[in-house]
Amino acid sequence: MAKRDYYEVLGLSKGASEADIKKAYRRLARKLHPDVNPGDKAAQKRFQEVQEAYDVLKDEEKRRAYDRFGHAGPGPVFGGGFDPRGAAGTPGSGGFGGRPGFEGFHFEGGDLGDLFGNLFGGGRRSPGGPHAGEDLRAQIEVPFRDAVLGGMASLALRGERPCSTCGATGRAGKGVCPICRGEGVVAESERVRVRIPEGTENGGAIRLPGKGGAGAQGGAPGDLYVTVRVTPHAYFERRGNDIHGIVPITVKEAYAGAEIEVPTIRGPVRAKVPPGTQGRQKFRLRGQGVKDPRTGGAGDHIYTVRVMVPKTVTPAGSDAATLLDSLYDADVRAELPKGL
Ligand SMILES: [Zn+2]
Repeated sequence: MAKRDYYEVLGLSKGASEADIKKAYRRLARKLHPDVNPGDKAAQKRFQEVQEAYDVLKDEEKRRAYDRFGHAGPGPVFGGGFDPRGAAGTPGSGGFGGRPGFEGFHFEGGDLGDLFGNLFGGGRRSPGGPHAGEDLRAQIEVPFRDAVLGGMASLALRGERPCSTCGATGRAGKGVCPICRGEGVVAESERVRVRIPEGTENGGAIRLPGKGGAGAQGGAPGDLYVTVRVTPHAYFERRGNDIHGIVPITVKEAYAGAEIEVPTIRGPVRAKVPPGTQGRQKFRLRGQGVKDPRTGGAGDHIYTVRVMVPKTVTPAGSDAATLLDSLYDADVRAELPKGL
């Protein structure tokens, strides 16, 4: 289910004052508090919803971010709908973030008078002349593979534009404009494609020039900085520019040597297991890790072998194991520190 608008949760409109927000919260909190509604799951859920909405709207900074970014901004949960094929609006295969991220645009820098004057050509002039739009921030979640190899993501931006039906007055005749419901502005959304460069790190930022807040009086728009959060991979782990993984092998493969297939982020690679390989031994496949965008070099793929012993025990198996046991050069525990 789509997350409800925080203002709607508190029964307020977007322009609500701080006092309105506090009042609405107190009223709802009293009504929905778990102490008042023991065992009522619905009330409990509503209470949490109200609490969350209040936590954001009471904080001036968080509220501003929410007004611009919607649920994508202030909360720990965001979702840039990842879009590996570039089809707008399709959530990616990474299995995260159903809800697209939102960003506000066109309403930064100057008051509404400035903005409207700007958009409608003419109108009021601010004494400062043109000034550039503010830089904005958004977050996007990207699957591990696309961060390492590069890919495309898309981010839905939310903003408002003046209502053309009523000329942004909010009025229609003697009543309220039915299109913008008296707000003078209507919601508008825009989907922006974001190129994820190869080797992008968790927490890395991508700058989208001109996608920030609109400038006023002909000032240039600001930039949008998109912070990338990389979804951890179920198998691969990135450390610096190296990628680590574990590869199970059999006792025979470890003892006699073998050629096996090692999964890497760039696809399977044939690799030799040398005879006499030990459990937890590490091997390196050079250049199969993350390409460093700064140096152009690539990290390595490092895999650790795990020797798997058959769980089915038979007399013949035990005989084979006894034979192997006779082949150790020394006591396997000879190098344990003494006096533990
Ligand atoms: Zn209108």
